[in-house]
Amino acid sequence: MASKRDYYESLGVGKSASDEELKKAYRKKALKFHPDRNAGNKGAEEKFKEVNEAYSVLSDSEKRKAYDQYGHEGLSGAGMGGFDFAQGGGFSDIFGDIFEEFFGGTPGQGRPRAQRGNDLRYSMTITFEEAIFGKEGKIKLRRPEPCHRCKGTGAKEGALKTCSTCGGAGQVRLQQGFFTLNRACSTCRGEGRVITEACLECRGERYKSNEKSISVKIPPGIETGMRLRVSGEGEIGHGGGPPGDLYVDISVKEHPHYNREGDQILFEKSISFIKAILGGRVEVPTIKGETSLKIPPGTQDGKVFRLKGLGFPNLRGHGIGDQLVTIKIKVPTKLTSQQREILEQYAKVSGESIDADSGKLFEKVKNLFE
Ligand SMILES: [Zn+2]
Ligand SMILES: [Zn+2]
Repeated sequence: MASKRDYYESLGVGKSASDEELKKAYRKKALKFHPDRNAGNKGAEEKFKEVNEAYSVLSDSEKRKAYDQYGHEGLSGAGMGGFDFAQGGGFSDIFGDIFEEFFGGTPGQGRPRAQRGNDLRYSMTITFEEAIFGKEGKIKLRRPEPCHRCKGTGAKEGALKTCSTCGGAGQVRLQQGFFTLNRACSTCRGEGRVITEACLECRGERYKSNEKSISVKIPPGIETGMRLRVSGEGEIGHGGGPPGDLYVDISVKEHPHYNREGDQILFEKSISFIKAILGGRVEVPTIKGETSLKIPPGTQDGKVFRLKGLGFPNLRGHGIGDQLVTIKIKVPTKLTSQQREILEQYAKVSGESIDADSGKLFEKVKNLFE
């Protein structure tokens, strides 16, 4: 360690100075050498570090004792490594005082702090088709907006001047050796400018509760339960902080005919048992209109046909899902005598024995289910 100036000398007090005298001396020196008052002055910056270090040691009775006995050497031992911010509450106390005094705040009022605005939540219901194709959603929100008359400055036209405390930066900076502290300026609340005459519309409040329409891009393939984030469309921040985000919770309405499973659209198609046996064509609705589906002879109940690329687009860009058509075979519940005759003949030819009363039984069973 190079030769260091005596801590008492740095603060300009005698070795027997009381805590109160130390505090007073420190305050005076810290204000004098503060970087904000000595922009670009290296010498002042060094002095500022020096008085901070001196005070951090001398305001701590343990460290002061070690220093009085052994000088700077006494502080380089275990746990006394130079200048320690984590210890010695006296430092932060006086730091707070100094800060308030220097920047015109009132002690106890709390320091202004850049604060991010609150997030907002919104629930949006979209149709099944909108979930497939995506859409440009519109959300109407009531939230504080910058006053339109003063554009959020809070000032009457031209009644704004650069804050003299922070020189317009909105922030004040305290440098403590290796440690730099940025704080929102309390005079201008981090705005860098102060109002000399308030806006007549918002009375200097800067914000007015307003209804705003926000567009939200709903991506194709979205599902119920998904949440979209619209960055920066939440509530406004304070003290120069950024706005919050808007979260949109999506819920997709059910479709009268389709179901969804991941990227697939599920659809059930009823066909007659004749078509199932003999085969033929049926019309099937898809998201792109009707399509003709070929039913091969001998199609069984529950058979699934796949219509490629007629499902949901994959949200992560993995192609497009399919439409799955599940075949349901309709069994007629009423037969004309002629139809019945033909079917009985079919049974006979197939060697299937039919109960003479089967017609009546058929009616009974049918009644049971009605
Ligand atoms: Zn300021
Ligand atoms: Zn205004």
